[in-house]
Amino acid sequence: MADRSFLNWPFFHDRHRDYYARFDAWVGENLADIDHGDIDESCRRIVARLGEAGWLEASAVDPDDPDSAIDVRTLCLSREILARHDGLADFAFAMQGLGTGALSFFGTPQQQEWLRKTRGGEALSAFALSEPRSGSDVANMEMTATHDSGDYVLNGEKTWISNGGIADLYTVFARTGEAPGAKGISAFVVPADTPGLQVAERINVIAPHPLARLSFENCRIPESALIGESGSGFRIAMSVLDVFRSTVGAAALGFARRALDETVNRAAGRELFGAPLFDLQMVQGHIADMALDVDAAALLIYRAAWTKDMGAARVTREAAMAKLYATDKAQEVIDKAVQIHGGDGVRSGHIVESLYRNIRALRIYEGASDVQKIVIARQALATAQTGALS
Ligand SMILES: Cc1cc2nc3c(=O)[nH]c(=O)nc-3n(C[C@H](O)[C@H](O)[C@H](O)COP(=O)(O)OP(=O)(O)OC[C@H]3O[C@@H](n4cnc5c(N)ncnc54)[C@H](O)[C@@H]3O)c2cc1C
Repeated sequence: MADRSFLNWPFFHDRHRDYYARFDAWVGENLADIDHGDIDESCRRIVARLGEAGWLEASAVDPDDPDSAIDVRTLCLSREILARHDGLADFAFAMQGLGTGALSFFGTPQQQEWLRKTRGGEALSAFALSEPRSGSDVANMEMTATHDSGDYVLNGEKTWISNGGIADLYTVFARTGEAPGAKGISAFVVPADTPGLQVAERINVIAPHPLARLSFENCRIPESALIGESGSGFRIAMSVLDVFRSTVGAAALGFARRALDETVNRAAGRELFGAPLFDLQMVQGHIADMALDVDAAALLIYRAAWTKDMGAARVTREAAMAKLYATDKAQEVIDKAVQIHGGDGVRSGHIVESLYRNIRALRIYEGASDVQKIVIARQALATAQTGALS
């Protein structure tokens, strides 16, 4: 059984401990048989099961309750549990939150109607920010949204869009031109069946993950599709990422915990040179490093989540630290797990082989590791100059 002692840290209440125990048991019983042969179909099935059982209620605010808020600790615990069991299940859960985050935080009551379906597992959502020439450089976005006869008309391309091709709604960011760069971008909610929106290419990557490049050609949407104020799209995107970046760290933590558990069991059970592999002190050194990295990552993740839940307007520094540390260290932890498993570590279909493929993209999306370092350095400078904390 995975280490649960972290649940006694002061970041958590009894409701979190209770949630962890119930959700962990449910995932073990209800998602173990999902086969990944058809990735699109698997995602739909996972989302439907999570929705029917009520677990997607954590992914977005309740449209019937104006006081409801997303509990970031619950999101992180959910992703940690799901990633420990199955990377695709974690991905499918996460997208229901990321794809609707702008609606949860900035949507009108009419726009939030979508949340009934995404929280119920009846609709899949996506977050369409990246473009062929603007990934890390978001402010370089080229896609346009032109005001025309009371509508907006979208033209351009989005790429690397998770759930692209299977989502029912897309949160799309496009240039409305109020100002150059980051200040001239707006956010829109776009149903997948809007004429002019097409899947230009499906993209395959090293681990199961539905992805697409999308084209928008004279794609007309009503003014009511604008999320928040015109020109505030960059701020909206960053506020959403502020919340969800910590959860990417939590997914990495789930992968790392699984790698650590598998490695300890393997080292204890395998005989080498007439004794358990675990008795070799160099192996113990690796396992100690792995356990240390797992705990340190957990501290940073749940610090960021707790800070946000306590009402901080932004947790840019905390979330960047959590994502950077947890994803980079999970890669190292999993690499050690592969090494200690010997040949089995690279055998196709072995759990640590799949963890090795699953972790890699987390160090690139929602802000690459290098970008997180820049964010952290700039926050350090701001703190030194103004004494500001976040
Ligand atoms: C599996 C996967 C899922 C994704 N899902 C989504 C999604 O749902 N929605 C969406 O909008 N996008 C998504 N993306 C896109 C992702 O956010 C971008 O790939 C990421 O922002 C990097 O952009 P890029 O690929 O254009 O690389 P580039 O911007 O070309 O950057 C390449 C590399 O340069 C380095 N780098 C970048 N900036 C700096 C800097 N300032 N200083 C130093 N080094 C730097 C980093 O190492 C970076 O990885 C996804 C990507 C992947 C791989």
